[in-house]
Amino acid sequence: MLATTIAGSLPKPAWLAEPETLWAPWRVAPESLAEAQRDAVLVALQDQETAGIDVVTDGEQSRQHFVHGFLERLEGIDFAKRVTNGIRADRYKAEVPTVTGPVARRAPVHLEEVRWARAHTDRRLKFTIPGPMTIVDTLADEHYRDRPRLAFAFARVINEEARELAAAGLDVLQLDEPAFNVYMDDVAAWGIEALHRATEGLTCTTAVHICYGYGIKANVDWKKTLGAEWRQYERTFPLLAASRIDQVSLECANSHVPLELLELLRGKDVMAGVIDVATHDVETPEDVAARIRQVMRHVEPARLLPCTNCGMVPLPREVARAKLRALGTGARLVRADLAQRSPDRRAVVRAAGEAEASLREPPGEGAPMANKK
Ligand code: ZN
Repeated sequence: MLATTIAGSLPKPAWLAEPETLWAPWRVAPESLAEAQRDAVLVALQDQETAGIDVVTDGEQSRQHFVHGFLERLEGIDFAKRVTNGIRADRYKAEVPTVTGPVARRAPVHLEEVRWARAHTDRRLKFTIPGPMTIVDTLADEHYRDRPRLAFAFARVINEEARELAAAGLDVLQLDEPAFNVYMDDVAAWGIEALHRATEGLTCTTAVHICYGYGIKANVDWKKTLGAEWRQYERTFPLLAASRIDQVSLECANSHVPLELLELLRGKDVMAGVIDVATHDVETPEDVAARIRQVMRHVEPARLLPCTNCGMVPLPREVARAKLRALGTGARLVRADLAQRSPDRRAVVRAAGEAEASLREPPGEGAPMANKK
């Protein structure tokens, strides 16, 4: 109950890539890069385990950007042919590669990364891949010249990849679709269908992450234009509730999303963002617990996974670590509270002891690996 997880990314160590930067350049020579990335994944896993995160990710340590990291190894996309496009309905400019031919996957893209992470954690493992609509929105296209057609081409490629990742022991495949909060008509017209094609036949849990973007200036400015109540989810949640996707990751912390909209997801697991990634202010465990309790008015605890609003890659590393600890400890506080009301006294004692211990000694630098499953 109340299993914790993160949206996906964590900051990279300064020895691996330039800190606090999106699309950060690598700082390691090409011949040593893969090894350095694997080392960074070990640290990311340990940070999550120590903080008490239940469903962990590789922190996206091996990719420069959450979209282009997947595209780099596909055929049909010319990275030398870069164009500056206004993406997310022109919210910000990005240098994007161009689709110049049929999109195809000749070899696995992230399989080695999933195998590496799988071999180094006993926790449930989640891996993120950009969703078809968000990919289409982060590219220039000279070949398909039709967004749904291009999205379905990517859905096929994602599905090939996802089946191999699931076979390698992945527990949760998450498709990142921030574009779902921008093109709501397209979500109904072809976005859900693209998700279905991307996840068809998968044996693992499937998830979609829909957010209001990283805590960067362009997004913060955009949010100011969205008014007192953000109701984008009101259009997409009923479609997702009727879909075959198992879990939905969404933004709640410090946002203007009316929490009653979460009731539109009845029947799905809800990964509710209770950690704000747009501020360096670190939540206290009590803040997190209070947010979880607010969400619990609309989502039953068995269906609720406390999570971050979005990826933490642009944050300073120490801030992200502290936020992870607040997330883990805050969820334990609520679990202890729920256990106290349960008739099973052993569960009460166990949960209360855990929460107390983690409050007394928040694991810091050099702390031993805690609570391996
Ligand atoms: Zn996000």
